Amino acid sequence: MSSIRHDAAFAALRAALMASYAGTLASTRMSPLEALEAMAAALGSIYREVADSHLDPEGCRCGWQPHALRDIVALEQAMGINAAGDEQESLFDLRSIMPAGHG
Ligand SMILES: [Zn+2]
Repeated sequence: MSSIRHDAAFAALRAALMASYAGTLASTRMSPLEALEAMAAALGSIYREVADSHLDPEGCRCGWQPHALRDIVALEQAMGINAAGDEQESLFDLRSIMPAGHG
């Protein structure tokens, strides 16, 4: 996740999510955390849909093989590491439970 292409994708996704977050806050009575939880729930359901399309023999043939437990841990860690920032590093260092490797 360090190439320029990844950095650009991250920036574009972050901007899109921020716009969705702002729109949700403006159009609902959700609290900030409720809106963020809804976004996290949406991401989880997108994972499920994408994974299912790769488990389907008639689905995507790109070769990626979903592994729900491992994939969900990776998603949770990606969110937690970015959410914690410097604030909670001394309380609970999420980096210390990062598994080695990719896939
Ligand atoms: Zn695919």
